[in-house]
Amino acid sequence: MIDDFDTRLLAWFDLHGRKHLPWQRSPTPYRVWVSEIMLQQTQVSTVIGYFERFMTRFPTINTLAAASEDEVLHLWTGLGYYARGRNLHKTAQRLTREYNAELPQTVAQLIELPGIGRSTAGAIVAIACGGRATILDGNVKRVLARCFGVAGWPGQTRVAAELWQIAATLTPTRRVNDYTQAMMDLGATLCTRSKPNCAACPFSVECVAHQSGQTSLLPGKKPSKKIPVRQTCMLLIENQQGEFLLQKRPSTGLWGGLWSFPEVPLEQLQQTALAASLKSTTAPLVLPFRHTFTHFHLDIRPIHVTYAQFHTLAGLPGLGNVTGPSAVSEPGSSWYDPQAPQTVGLTRPVTRIFQQLAALHKTASIAPHGL
Ligand code: SF4
Repeated sequence: MIDDFDTRLLAWFDLHGRKHLPWQRSPTPYRVWVSEIMLQQTQVSTVIGYFERFMTRFPTINTLAAASEDEVLHLWTGLGYYARGRNLHKTAQRLTREYNAELPQTVAQLIELPGIGRSTAGAIVAIACGGRATILDGNVKRVLARCFGVAGWPGQTRVAAELWQIAATLTPTRRVNDYTQAMMDLGATLCTRSKPNCAACPFSVECVAHQSGQTSLLPGKKPSKKIPVRQTCMLLIENQQGEFLLQKRPSTGLWGGLWSFPEVPLEQLQQTALAASLKSTTAPLVLPFRHTFTHFHLDIRPIHVTYAQFHTLAGLPGLGNVTGPSAVSEPGSSWYDPQAPQTVGLTRPVTRIFQQLAALHKTASIAPHGL
Protein backbone atom coordinates (compact mmCIF):
# COMPACT_ATOMS: atom_id res chain seq x y z
CA MET A 1 0.00 0.00 0.00
CA ILE A 2 1.18 3.58 -0.60
CA ASP A 3 0.97 5.43 2.76
CA ASP A 4 0.46 8.95 1.45
CA PHE A 5 -1.71 7.94 -1.53
CA ASP A 6 -4.48 10.44 -0.75
CA THR A 7 -2.06 13.32 -0.05
CA ARG A 8 -0.31 12.86 -3.36
CA LEU A 9 -3.52 12.34 -5.26
CA LEU A 10 -5.08 15.49 -3.80
CA ALA A 11 -1.93 17.52 -4.57
CA TRP A 12 -2.17 16.34 -8.17
CA PHE A 13 -5.90 17.09 -8.25
CA ASP A 14 -5.39 20.65 -6.96
CA LEU A 15 -3.11 21.34 -9.91
CA HIS A 16 -4.59 19.22 -12.69
CA GLY A 17 -8.05 17.94 -11.71
CA ARG A 18 -11.24 18.85 -13.58
CA LYS A 19 -13.23 21.44 -11.69
CA HIS A 20 -15.60 22.91 -14.26
CA LEU A 21 -17.75 19.99 -15.39
CA PRO A 22 -21.46 20.93 -15.32
CA TRP A 23 -22.31 18.53 -12.49
CA GLN A 24 -19.49 19.99 -10.36
CA ARG A 25 -21.38 23.27 -10.21
CA SER A 26 -23.68 22.93 -7.24
CA PRO A 27 -23.10 19.18 -6.68
CA THR A 28 -26.40 18.29 -5.05
CA PRO A 29 -27.20 14.59 -4.51
CA TYR A 30 -29.70 14.78 -7.41
CA ARG A 31 -27.17 16.30 -9.87
CA VAL A 32 -24.41 13.89 -8.82
CA TRP A 33 -26.82 10.95 -9.17
CA VAL A 34 -27.92 11.91 -12.70
CA SER A 35 -24.34 12.58 -13.82
CA GLU A 36 -23.07 9.28 -12.40
CA ILE A 37 -25.80 7.33 -14.17
CA MET A 38 -25.14 9.11 -17.48
CA LEU A 39 -21.37 8.57 -17.14
CA GLN A 40 -21.76 4.78 -16.88
CA GLN A 41 -20.55 3.42 -20.25
CA THR A 42 -20.47 6.94 -21.75
CA GLN A 43 -17.67 9.48 -22.16
CA VAL A 44 -17.67 12.85 -20.38
CA SER A 45 -17.65 14.81 -23.66
CA THR A 46 -20.86 13.06 -24.79
CA VAL A 47 -22.56 13.35 -21.41
CA ILE A 48 -22.14 17.13 -20.99
CA GLY A 49 -24.86 18.13 -23.50
CA TYR A 50 -27.28 15.42 -22.33
CA PHE A 51 -26.78 16.44 -18.69
CA GLU A 52 -27.41 20.14 -19.40
CA ARG A 53 -30.62 19.41 -21.37
CA PHE A 54 -31.83 16.95 -18.74
CA MET A 55 -31.27 19.42 -15.90
CA THR A 56 -32.92 22.27 -17.78
CA ARG A 57 -36.05 20.16 -18.31
CA PHE A 58 -35.96 18.28 -14.97
CA PRO A 59 -34.28 20.58 -12.43
CA THR A 60 -35.64 18.61 -9.44
CA ILE A 61 -36.58 15.08 -8.48
CA ASN A 62 -40.23 16.20 -8.45
CA THR A 63 -40.14 17.44 -12.07
CA LEU A 64 -38.50 14.20 -13.18
CA ALA A 65 -41.04 12.08 -11.31
CA ALA A 66 -43.96 13.99 -12.86
CA ALA A 67 -42.71 13.58 -16.47
CA SER A 68 -43.90 10.87 -18.85
CA GLU A 69 -41.56 7.98 -19.65
CA ASP A 70 -41.65 9.09 -23.31
CA GLU A 71 -40.27 12.49 -22.39
CA VAL A 72 -37.47 11.04 -20.25
CA LEU A 73 -36.48 8.62 -23.02
CA HIS A 74 -36.68 11.42 -25.59
CA LEU A 75 -33.93 13.25 -23.67
CA TRP A 76 -32.00 9.98 -23.44
CA THR A 77 -32.15 9.22 -27.19
CA GLY A 78 -28.62 8.59 -28.47
CA LEU A 79 -27.07 7.93 -25.04
CA GLY A 80 -27.79 4.19 -25.22
CA TYR A 81 -28.40 1.74 -22.36
CA TYR A 82 -31.95 3.03 -21.95
CA ALA A 83 -32.62 1.03 -18.81
CA ARG A 84 -30.57 3.76 -17.10
CA GLY A 85 -33.11 6.42 -18.10
CA ARG A 86 -36.10 4.25 -17.16
CA ASN A 87 -34.57 3.48 -13.76
CA LEU A 88 -33.85 7.17 -13.08
CA HIS A 89 -37.49 7.92 -13.79
CA LYS A 90 -38.80 5.05 -11.65
CA THR A 91 -36.48 5.93 -8.79
CA ALA A 92 -37.52 9.61 -8.90
CA GLN A 93 -41.14 8.50 -8.54
CA ARG A 94 -40.26 6.27 -5.60
CA LEU A 95 -38.29 9.10 -3.96
CA THR A 96 -41.32 11.37 -4.12
CA ARG A 97 -43.45 8.68 -2.45
CA GLU A 98 -41.01 7.41 0.17
CA TYR A 99 -38.31 10.03 0.77
CA ASN A 100 -40.04 13.40 0.37
CA ALA A 101 -38.39 13.82 -3.07
CA GLU A 102 -34.85 13.63 -1.69
CA LEU A 103 -32.12 11.04 -2.04
CA PRO A 104 -31.21 9.18 1.14
CA GLN A 105 -27.68 9.86 2.35
CA THR A 106 -26.32 6.41 3.17
CA VAL A 107 -24.88 3.81 0.81
CA ALA A 108 -27.07 1.11 2.36
CA GLN A 109 -30.30 3.02 1.59
CA LEU A 110 -29.17 4.19 -1.85
CA ILE A 111 -28.33 0.73 -3.17
CA GLU A 112 -31.90 -0.35 -2.44
CA LEU A 113 -33.11 1.98 -5.21
CA PRO A 114 -33.46 0.84 -8.86
CA GLY A 115 -30.33 1.43 -10.95
CA ILE A 116 -28.09 2.61 -8.08
CA GLY A 117 -25.14 0.28 -7.53
CA ARG A 118 -22.50 0.38 -4.82
CA SER A 119 -20.12 2.69 -6.70
CA THR A 120 -22.83 5.18 -7.72
CA ALA A 121 -24.10 5.22 -4.13
CA GLY A 122 -20.54 5.84 -2.91
CA ALA A 123 -20.12 8.75 -5.35
CA ILE A 124 -23.38 10.39 -4.22
CA VAL A 125 -22.46 10.10 -0.52
CA ALA A 126 -18.83 11.21 -1.00
CA ILE A 127 -19.24 14.01 -3.57
CA ALA A 128 -22.61 15.47 -2.61
CA CYS A 129 -22.72 14.77 1.13
CA GLY A 130 -18.99 14.69 2.02
CA GLY A 131 -19.40 11.32 3.77
CA ARG A 132 -16.59 8.77 3.79
CA ALA A 133 -17.70 6.37 1.08
CA THR A 134 -15.80 4.46 -1.57
CA ILE A 135 -16.27 4.31 -5.33
CA LEU A 136 -15.07 1.74 -7.84
CA ASP A 137 -16.14 2.74 -11.34
CA GLY A 138 -14.32 1.71 -14.53
CA ASN A 139 -11.70 4.44 -14.22
CA VAL A 140 -10.89 3.64 -10.61
CA LYS A 141 -10.67 -0.09 -11.33
CA ARG A 142 -8.09 0.64 -14.01
CA VAL A 143 -5.96 2.87 -11.76
CA LEU A 144 -5.98 0.43 -8.84
CA ALA A 145 -5.45 -2.71 -10.93
CA ARG A 146 -2.39 -1.12 -12.52
CA CYS A 147 -0.99 0.66 -9.52
CA PHE A 148 -1.26 -2.35 -7.19
CA GLY A 149 -0.78 -5.09 -9.80
CA VAL A 150 -4.18 -6.77 -9.42
CA ALA A 151 -4.40 -9.37 -12.19
CA GLY A 152 -7.61 -10.72 -13.74
CA TRP A 153 -10.81 -9.27 -15.19
CA PRO A 154 -12.51 -6.86 -12.70
CA GLY A 155 -15.89 -8.42 -13.60
CA GLN A 156 -14.82 -11.56 -11.68
CA THR A 157 -16.01 -11.64 -8.08
CA ARG A 158 -12.56 -12.37 -6.65
CA VAL A 159 -10.88 -9.53 -8.57
CA ALA A 160 -13.68 -7.07 -7.76
CA ALA A 161 -13.49 -7.95 -4.06
CA GLU A 162 -9.75 -7.30 -4.01
CA LEU A 163 -10.17 -3.95 -5.78
CA TRP A 164 -12.99 -2.90 -3.40
CA GLN A 165 -10.76 -3.79 -0.46
CA ILE A 166 -7.89 -1.64 -1.78
CA ALA A 167 -10.25 1.23 -2.68
CA ALA A 168 -11.83 1.22 0.79
CA THR A 169 -8.45 1.18 2.53
CA LEU A 170 -7.21 4.15 0.49
CA THR A 171 -10.34 6.30 0.97
CA PRO A 172 -9.46 9.17 3.34
CA THR A 173 -11.64 10.84 5.95
CA ARG A 174 -10.77 14.40 4.87
CA ARG A 175 -11.65 16.01 1.53
CA VAL A 176 -13.36 12.80 0.49
CA ASN A 177 -15.36 14.66 -2.16
CA ASP A 178 -12.20 15.96 -3.89
CA TYR A 179 -10.48 12.60 -3.43
CA THR A 180 -13.37 10.82 -5.16
CA GLN A 181 -13.36 13.25 -8.07
CA ALA A 182 -9.54 13.00 -8.21
CA MET A 183 -9.64 9.20 -8.58
CA MET A 184 -12.06 9.51 -11.48
CA ASP A 185 -9.97 12.27 -13.07
CA LEU A 186 -6.71 10.35 -12.77
CA GLY A 187 -8.29 7.39 -14.56
CA ALA A 188 -9.95 9.52 -17.22
CA THR A 189 -7.07 11.87 -18.03
CA LEU A 190 -3.76 10.12 -17.14
CA CYS A 191 -4.31 6.43 -16.56
CA THR A 192 -6.21 6.03 -19.81
CA ARG A 193 -7.08 2.69 -21.37
CA SER A 194 -4.36 2.95 -24.02
CA LYS A 195 -1.14 4.94 -23.72
CA PRO A 196 -1.37 6.10 -20.08
CA ASN A 197 0.69 9.20 -19.34
CA CYS A 198 2.78 7.59 -16.61
CA ALA A 199 5.45 10.31 -16.72
CA ALA A 200 2.92 12.78 -15.28
CA CYS A 201 1.45 10.37 -12.71
CA PRO A 202 2.06 10.91 -8.99
CA PHE A 203 2.40 7.12 -8.51
CA SER A 204 4.76 6.25 -11.35
CA VAL A 205 7.57 5.16 -9.00
CA GLU A 206 5.42 2.62 -7.11
CA CYS A 207 3.02 1.60 -9.90
CA VAL A 208 3.38 -2.13 -10.51
CA ALA A 209 2.07 -2.02 -14.09
CA HIS A 210 4.32 0.89 -15.12
CA GLN A 211 7.42 -0.48 -13.43
CA SER A 212 6.95 -3.95 -14.92
CA GLY A 213 5.86 -2.78 -18.40
CA GLN A 214 2.38 -4.29 -18.03
CA THR A 215 0.11 -1.29 -18.53
CA SER A 216 -1.41 -2.94 -21.61
CA LEU A 217 -2.13 -6.15 -19.67
CA LEU A 218 -3.81 -4.61 -16.61
CA PRO A 219 -6.65 -4.65 -15.84
CA GLY A 220 -7.29 -8.07 -17.38
CA LYS A 221 -9.73 -8.28 -20.30
CA LYS A 222 -13.14 -9.88 -20.20
CA PRO A 223 -12.90 -13.41 -21.65
CA SER A 224 -14.24 -13.10 -25.19
CA LYS A 225 -17.33 -15.08 -26.13
CA LYS A 226 -18.85 -15.54 -29.58
CA ILE A 227 -22.28 -13.95 -29.66
CA PRO A 228 -25.14 -15.11 -31.93
CA VAL A 229 -26.50 -13.22 -34.96
CA ARG A 230 -30.23 -12.56 -35.40
CA GLN A 231 -32.01 -10.99 -38.34
CA THR A 232 -35.02 -8.75 -38.75
CA CYS A 233 -36.76 -6.59 -41.35
CA MET A 234 -37.79 -3.11 -40.28
CA LEU A 235 -40.68 -1.69 -42.28
CA LEU A 236 -40.30 2.01 -43.00
CA ILE A 237 -43.96 2.69 -43.79
CA GLU A 238 -44.25 6.24 -45.12
CA ASN A 239 -47.54 8.10 -45.61
CA GLN A 240 -48.34 10.87 -48.08
CA GLN A 241 -47.19 13.54 -45.61
CA GLY A 242 -43.70 12.02 -45.37
CA GLU A 243 -44.40 10.63 -41.88
CA PHE A 244 -43.35 7.14 -40.78
CA LEU A 245 -45.27 4.62 -38.74
CA LEU A 246 -43.60 3.89 -35.40
CA GLN A 247 -44.68 1.53 -32.65
CA LYS A 248 -43.94 1.81 -28.95
CA ARG A 249 -42.11 -1.23 -27.61
CA PRO A 250 -43.23 -2.92 -24.38
CA SER A 251 -41.73 -1.21 -21.33
CA THR A 252 -39.62 -4.22 -20.38
CA GLY A 253 -37.14 -6.06 -22.60
CA LEU A 254 -35.11 -4.91 -25.55
CA TRP A 255 -35.44 -1.16 -26.25
CA GLY A 256 -38.15 -1.06 -23.56
CA GLY A 257 -40.42 1.99 -23.84
CA LEU A 258 -38.73 3.29 -27.00
CA TRP A 259 -40.38 3.83 -30.39
CA SER A 260 -39.27 1.81 -33.40
CA PHE A 261 -40.34 0.68 -36.87
CA PRO A 262 -42.64 -2.36 -37.14
CA GLU A 263 -40.61 -5.53 -37.59
CA VAL A 264 -41.29 -8.78 -39.46
CA PRO A 265 -39.14 -11.82 -40.19
CA LEU A 266 -37.73 -11.80 -43.74
CA GLU A 267 -39.27 -15.23 -44.61
CA GLN A 268 -42.77 -13.96 -43.83
CA LEU A 269 -42.27 -10.83 -45.85
CA GLN A 270 -41.18 -12.85 -48.89
CA GLN A 271 -44.59 -14.60 -48.94
CA THR A 272 -46.55 -11.36 -49.28
CA ALA A 273 -47.73 -9.18 -52.12
CA LEU A 274 -45.34 -6.57 -50.83
CA ALA A 275 -42.34 -8.65 -51.96
CA ALA A 276 -43.48 -8.46 -55.59
CA SER A 277 -44.36 -4.80 -55.49
CA LEU A 278 -41.01 -3.86 -53.94
CA LYS A 279 -39.21 -5.01 -57.09
CA SER A 280 -40.53 -1.96 -58.89
CA THR A 281 -40.51 0.40 -55.93
CA THR A 282 -39.60 4.03 -56.25
CA ALA A 283 -38.77 4.42 -52.57
CA PRO A 284 -35.18 5.25 -51.62
CA LEU A 285 -33.08 2.20 -50.68
CA VAL A 286 -31.79 2.19 -47.12
CA LEU A 287 -28.84 -0.17 -46.78
CA PRO A 288 -28.87 -3.12 -44.35
CA PHE A 289 -26.68 -2.76 -41.26
CA ARG A 290 -25.72 -4.52 -38.05
CA HIS A 291 -26.63 -3.31 -34.56
CA THR A 292 -24.74 -5.00 -31.75
CA PHE A 293 -26.12 -5.59 -28.28
CA THR A 294 -24.03 -7.01 -25.44
CA HIS A 295 -25.44 -10.50 -26.01
CA PHE A 296 -26.18 -10.69 -29.77
CA HIS A 297 -25.76 -9.01 -33.15
CA LEU A 298 -28.94 -7.89 -34.92
CA ASP A 299 -28.70 -7.70 -38.73
CA ILE A 300 -31.33 -5.17 -39.79
CA ARG A 301 -32.86 -5.05 -43.26
CA PRO A 302 -34.77 -1.76 -43.66
CA ILE A 303 -37.63 -2.05 -46.18
CA HIS A 304 -39.09 1.24 -47.36
CA VAL A 305 -42.83 0.88 -47.98
CA THR A 306 -44.63 3.69 -49.78
CA TYR A 307 -48.20 4.67 -49.05
CA ALA A 308 -49.28 3.07 -52.36
CA GLN A 309 -47.91 -0.28 -51.11
CA PHE A 310 -49.49 0.05 -47.69
CA HIS A 311 -52.40 -2.32 -48.43
CA THR A 312 -50.01 -5.16 -49.36
CA LEU A 313 -49.06 -5.49 -45.70
CA ALA A 314 -52.56 -6.45 -44.58
CA GLY A 315 -52.63 -9.62 -42.50
CA LEU A 316 -48.87 -9.87 -42.11
CA PRO A 317 -48.23 -11.64 -38.77
CA GLY A 318 -46.56 -9.49 -36.15
CA LEU A 319 -47.90 -6.22 -37.49
CA GLY A 320 -51.04 -6.13 -35.39
CA ASN A 321 -53.42 -3.41 -36.48
CA VAL A 322 -50.94 -1.08 -38.10
CA THR A 323 -52.23 -1.74 -41.62
CA GLY A 324 -55.76 -0.57 -40.99
CA PRO A 325 -56.95 2.96 -41.62
CA SER A 326 -57.11 3.48 -37.85
CA ALA A 327 -53.39 2.89 -37.42
CA VAL A 328 -52.81 6.43 -36.23
CA SER A 329 -55.23 6.17 -33.38
CA GLU A 330 -54.09 2.72 -32.21
CA PRO A 331 -52.48 3.05 -28.77
CA GLY A 332 -48.77 2.40 -29.17
CA SER A 333 -48.71 3.37 -32.88
CA SER A 334 -48.03 6.81 -34.26
CA TRP A 335 -47.07 8.62 -37.45
CA TYR A 336 -43.74 10.29 -36.80
CA ASP A 337 -42.42 13.25 -38.77
CA PRO A 338 -38.60 13.17 -38.78
CA GLN A 339 -38.61 16.89 -39.73
CA ALA A 340 -40.61 17.77 -36.58
CA PRO A 341 -39.60 15.18 -33.98
CA GLN A 342 -42.08 14.30 -31.25
CA THR A 343 -41.15 14.04 -27.59
CA VAL A 344 -40.54 10.30 -27.50
CA GLY A 345 -37.46 8.09 -27.20
CA LEU A 346 -36.18 6.48 -30.41
CA THR A 347 -34.03 3.36 -30.76
CA ARG A 348 -30.57 3.90 -32.20
CA PRO A 349 -31.40 2.06 -35.47
CA VAL A 350 -34.39 4.39 -36.00
CA THR A 351 -32.18 7.45 -35.55
CA ARG A 352 -29.63 5.96 -37.93
CA ILE A 353 -32.26 5.13 -40.56
CA PHE A 354 -33.73 8.65 -40.42
CA GLN A 355 -30.23 10.03 -40.95
CA GLN A 356 -29.73 7.74 -43.96
CA LEU A 357 -33.10 8.75 -45.40
CA ALA A 358 -32.28 12.45 -45.02
CA ALA A 359 -28.99 11.91 -46.87
CA LEU A 360 -30.76 9.88 -49.59
CA HIS A 361 -33.38 12.56 -50.13
CA LYS A 362 -30.57 15.04 -50.72
CA THR A 363 -28.97 12.86 -53.41
CA ALA A 364 -32.33 11.47 -54.67
CA SER A 365 -30.85 7.94 -54.85
CA ILE A 366 -33.48 5.37 -55.85
CA ALA A 367 -33.10 1.63 -56.35
CA PRO A 368 -35.26 -1.50 -56.27
CA HIS A 369 -35.18 -3.63 -53.11
CA GLY A 370 -35.33 -7.17 -54.60
CA LEU A 371 -36.08 -9.26 -51.50
S1 SF4 B 1 1.90 5.13 -13.41
FE1 SF4 B 1 0.78 4.96 -15.32
S2 SF4 B 1 -0.27 2.97 -15.23
FE2 SF4 B 1 0.40 3.49 -13.15
S3 SF4 B 1 -1.36 4.46 -12.21
FE3 SF4 B 1 -0.07 6.09 -13.05
S4 SF4 B 1 -0.85 6.46 -15.14
FE4 SF4 B 1 -1.68 4.49 -14.42
